[in-house]
Amino acid sequence: MQVGCHGLVWTGMFDRIGLEHAIISTAGAGYDLLEIPLLRPDGFDISAAEEVRARHPLPIAASLAQSLDSDPLDGTSASRDAAEARLLHALDILGRLDSSFLVGALYGPLHKYTEPVSDAGWRNAVGVIRTAADRAAELGITLGLEVVNRYETNLFNTARTALRFLDDVDRANVGIHLDTYHMNIEEADFAAPVRACEDRLVYVHVGESHRGYLGSGTIPFEPFFRALAEIGYDGPLTFESFSSAIIEPDLSRALAVWRNLWDDSADLGAHANSFIRAQHQAAQSIDAQP
Ligand code: MN
Repeated sequence: MQVGCHGLVWTGMFDRIGLEHAIISTAGAGYDLLEIPLLRPDGFDISAAEEVRARHPLPIAASLAQSLDSDPLDGTSASRDAAEARLLHALDILGRLDSSFLVGALYGPLHKYTEPVSDAGWRNAVGVIRTAADRAAELGITLGLEVVNRYETNLFNTARTALRFLDDVDRANVGIHLDTYHMNIEEADFAAPVRACEDRLVYVHVGESHRGYLGSGTIPFEPFFRALAEIGYDGPLTFESFSSAIIEPDLSRALAVWRNLWDDSADLGAHANSFIRAQHQAAQSIDAQP
């Protein structure tokens, strides 16, 4: 099990200076993994990132969503090609950073759709993920398909529908990425979706209902962590939190980050690291109880 931290806890810029700050701060707060947003693989300075990684060898995962002009859910082949190119570029970057995970809304942009997904959109998304999965397999990378709420995609909003999509994709190195923030909006509870995913759960975002300090919102973390322990989940548990104190131009708009929920990244990050480890440790102890 690795406890991870989303880069936006520390910085909105992932150039040399931003990345180095994020890596040092993530390691300093006690985490095992840094997740960086790779929303624009084209603009990412890979040589700077390799150089920073050589000095600070903390494992890195990346998350991304598609852009509006690379949205396979529109059902067109042009968008499908653009979406595949974006994922393949991101995988090249991650291969050079020895990363094991590419996660997030790999199947579409985060925005509000006004119609349900079409059959053509679903099929397009399946094709995009298969293409990316085959390249990812060569690099030893696992893809996590994040289940996000209805205001951010129309492809799937619950673990159950995401598992149907995963069946269609049919690739061993693709799994489900659950996020408690989204589960709180769409799922009936916090344990059944985890149990439904079972060994197909590959990545987890731990986030509060308002995306601030863990424990300061309405998410019931205990049943979630107990269900993770029940299924023997051993993958990353990554803290995700956003505040208007730290802005990434694309992501902050897409996620509607308008509120200032915290200013002190170091305090927030250290708190979440202890919170996640405490929840995990307590849930793990249940099996050993006489
Ligand atoms: Mn998330």
